Amino acid sequence: MAMRMGLIGFDAARERLGYDTDESPTLDDLELIGWLIGRGDPSTGVPVEIGGQRGVPQTPRPGQAPPPAALVAAAPRTVSLNELTDLDTGALEYTVTQAEAALDRVIEKAGARLRSKAQSNPTLLALSDGVPNRLLPQTLKGRFAPTDVVSEADFDAVRKRILARWRRTATQAEATLARLVDAEPADPQQVDEDMRDGDSRLLAVLLAAALAALFTPDGTPDPAEVGEARDTRVPVTELREAMSIAGGGAPSYVDAGAWELIAGGRRTDQALRGIGAVSAGFEWRYGDPASRVRNFEPHQRLNGVRFETWTDDRLTVTADGSWVGGTHYRPGDHRGCLCLYTREVTLALAAAGNLDPAL
Ligand SMILES: [Zn+2]
Repeated sequence: MAMRMGLIGFDAARERLGYDTDESPTLDDLELIGWLIGRGDPSTGVPVEIGGQRGVPQTPRPGQAPPPAALVAAAPRTVSLNELTDLDTGALEYTVTQAEAALDRVIEKAGARLRSKAQSNPTLLALSDGVPNRLLPQTLKGRFAPTDVVSEADFDAVRKRILARWRRTATQAEATLARLVDAEPADPQQVDEDMRDGDSRLLAVLLAAALAALFTPDGTPDPAEVGEARDTRVPVTELREAMSIAGGGAPSYVDAGAWELIAGGRRTDQALRGIGAVSAGFEWRYGDPASRVRNFEPHQRLNGVRFETWTDDRLTVTADGSWVGGTHYRPGDHRGCLCLYTREVTLALAAAGNLDPAL
């Protein structure tokens, strides 16, 4: 019998419907009633509550075989992609840390190169007397070309390390997606192309950050206008953009799109769309407060907050963070932001072309 699966109890159905054990309808009638209730409310698709138990849509009609396993598997289910957020959190932390170390090395090396040049130039030698290497570029600014002291090759090693990490993140993200939602793997050639583009952007970001650090006076930024920050020489937002490109997409959020970085990036978004996933909401992830030299309270307050869209009231910019601009907070909305978000998706029999635009 259909009810023997324990999905809906006859007694519960009988009691709910107001029948005594001695009364009609017959057991067969009740089985049919149970099946009808078990199908759930057709307007909502939600199983009907009976005596504290839930009917299950796949309950077969009496005398019929159970539904095919494929249909049972296709019942809507909601999945948290927090494992992807963890992968991106680690990759972003690694990228920022490596960028900081690379800037230290490049700045030191640039100073040493200038010191060497000054040995054969009495004017430069006099100007550089007593000045530490790291401050020489600022002291001698305008007396040499920046390319004399910094070159793209200075970033070869750090780019190689970061790119290798990004690739591992992408590989792990694919494996996670395959396990969680049975998504198809990405085209390896496309991944290669995305990684190359991301690496090119990374080089440009590192070069610009090095030149800015070398030639811009070491001014202390106004704490009220830096938000969360660690090494203020490193533009975290731009590193995030490079990672997003490596993840398959444009360098920043587009409209209501919800993809960023690598594991949760554009390729993941496309894979989810390909299997008909629908956005079921987001959760702000501030991450480790100790990873910042300075924390940003408006973002820290949002840790764990769930929201449906990027214009949710809970994300409204508050007075203490109004300098970020815009109307709503978003991970990556200022230079030093290390925040991420986790999204949940519902997998259903939805047509791939009919998806929630906020996904
Ligand atoms: Zn943040």
